[in-house]
Amino acid sequence: MPKELLRQWKVSDSADLYGIKEWGGGYFDLNQKGEATVTARFGGTAVSVSLMDILSGIEARGLGLPILLRIQNLLDAQIERIHESFRRAIRTYGYHGQYQGVFPIKVNQQQEIIEGISRFGERYDHGLEAGSKAELIVALAMLNSTNSPLICNGYKDREFIDLGLQATRMGYKVFFVVEMPGELPLLIERVRATGIRPNIGLRLKLAAKAGGHWSESGGDFSLFGLTTTQLVEVVDVLKAAEMLDCIRLVHYHLGSQIPNIRDVRNAVNETVRFYAELAEEGAPMGYIDLGGGLAVDYDGSKTNFVHSMNYTIDEYSADVIEVIMNVLDEKGIEHPTVITESGRATVAYSTVLLFNTLEISRSQPTALPESLPPNTHELMHNMHEVLRTLSVKNVQECYNDALYYREEILERFRLGQISLRDRALAENYFLQILKQVLTLKSRLKRTPVELEGLDDAMYDIYYGNFSVFQSLPDTWAIDQVFPVIPIHRLNEEPTRKAIIADITCDSDGKIDRFADFHDVRRTIAVHDVPADQDYYFGVFLVGAYQETLGDLHNLFGDTNVVSIRINEDGSFDFLNETEGDSIADVIAIVNYEPKALLRMFREKAERAVRSGSLTVAERRAILDTYERSLNGYTYYKT
Ligand SMILES: *Cc1c(COP(=O)(O)O)cnc(C)c1O
Repeated sequence: MPKELLRQWKVSDSADLYGIKEWGGGYFDLNQKGEATVTARFGGTAVSVSLMDILSGIEARGLGLPILLRIQNLLDAQIERIHESFRRAIRTYGYHGQYQGVFPIKVNQQQEIIEGISRFGERYDHGLEAGSKAELIVALAMLNSTNSPLICNGYKDREFIDLGLQATRMGYKVFFVVEMPGELPLLIERVRATGIRPNIGLRLKLAAKAGGHWSESGGDFSLFGLTTTQLVEVVDVLKAAEMLDCIRLVHYHLGSQIPNIRDVRNAVNETVRFYAELAEEGAPMGYIDLGGGLAVDYDGSKTNFVHSMNYTIDEYSADVIEVIMNVLDEKGIEHPTVITESGRATVAYSTVLLFNTLEISRSQPTALPESLPPNTHELMHNMHEVLRTLSVKNVQECYNDALYYREEILERFRLGQISLRDRALAENYFLQILKQVLTLKSRLKRTPVELEGLDDAMYDIYYGNFSVFQSLPDTWAIDQVFPVIPIHRLNEEPTRKAIIADITCDSDGKIDRFADFHDVRRTIAVHDVPADQDYYFGVFLVGAYQETLGDLHNLFGDTNVVSIRINEDGSFDFLNETEGDSIADVIAIVNYEPKALLRMFREKAERAVRSGSLTVAERRAILDTYERSLNGYTYYKT
């Protein structure tokens, strides 16, 4: 046996294999017990807690999996990271303005998140962005500091405008962002009627574009924002209404997850030019709002791949500050307050989806019989022969033969010439051959073209207790890659390859794209699991966009949510446990009346007793099960 095969598998091997240090953002790692950990920082001290310890705390409290775990420390840490990064850039460059962040509510509207951001963000006057009346209602109640900006984007009706104006009177720092010239008459009318002077922002449609999934949000084809002609029109209308002094801000949103820093720079550069022009038109200005787009490195590759980013937060803030200064200093225009609307980068890290494995379908060949059964088809003998003669010298030839015989056998089955048992045996032969081909292939100096890509051909299916559609909708909708790893046994070598299927029995309900440094892989390395043991996975960086985009496919509802805070002494507190939907909850959403269903089923059971197919005791047993299920979790208990 070659030496390297004898080497003991180490936790660091797992860390390398799964790339956890690369995508973990300094928050996730592995401990010496081979468990995934989450790290919180207290000044210079880092405190790590095992996700398995958190999981046993959750299970001890009686909550079942799947669980959405929120770690509040990480939300705080990301807000701090973004602000401190801008502060450093401002200091380094001698920038005269400030930085303020706002959180776009749509990225995660959960009360707990908005509350956490308002609470921790207060020290930085971190604000909120509202894209609808409902979000404005939330923002007005949740914002703690009136120095925090409240950016109002999107369409605004009279009620929306009035709310914003009254809030301005109360002292809130509201910005009305104008996206279309058509919004102006109503705004001007309400300003005249109330006598309240609003802060107005203008949303630009930039020529600059960004690569990535959401590239359509920016550029000339974006749905939102003013064209240059419309911008001039808006300025003239406001001038005529004696409201030029209300124009305080320019804004754009290029799209989410911008992987390439060059696109960020281009957009900032174009926007500052607009800013300078508006200042020269006589608008007081003072704010430049660069929207969202700050990316998250989901695959840890640090590239301009769509799920990654080729820059750090420090490079982002330095570039933004530098570009703004370059343009404005040349014109002698004062430095504005820089606002960004980073949603994804603020919340992605804070949430982890944890689920258990319900079942495994192994692509493992079972033992073959010593000899072929009598009267078996001739093709079966051929299959047997391929396996017998397979060696390093004829790998490719044998593989091709096996493929050919398998096809032939399937064809004969369709014609009724091959029995069920022979077909099953042929399947097993094929797997046995494939397995050996894979072993022999690794010993070849040069891999023949036909055998390339074969590594992912043989994989197990691990059935996870979760729904992709409910908990990871972007996996399905836009092929988003999230880091997924087993969260324990990482001191053992994972010897199997798998894809992960969910429990929706929808062929799209699966994870079969996994983060890799160079590419996206079809399978993930996993451990073999004895029948009596549990196996847990974590899907990381799922705090942005997934929760409210999720739906009730197959009537799997909201998962249980648990939020924790890690303490300096290494302990952690459970702050909040929100029970997920029960079956009664989800069926009520699609307009069933749970009580009525129970009554209808009870009547059916009663009829069964009358007709003699159920005893009274059996009736009671099935009704108990029905009722317990109705009031229980939509996911599976083990
Ligand atoms: C969605 C959205 C954001 C958030 O973008 P992220 O890429 O998540 O930071 C910011 N601003 C506006 C106007 C948006 O629509």
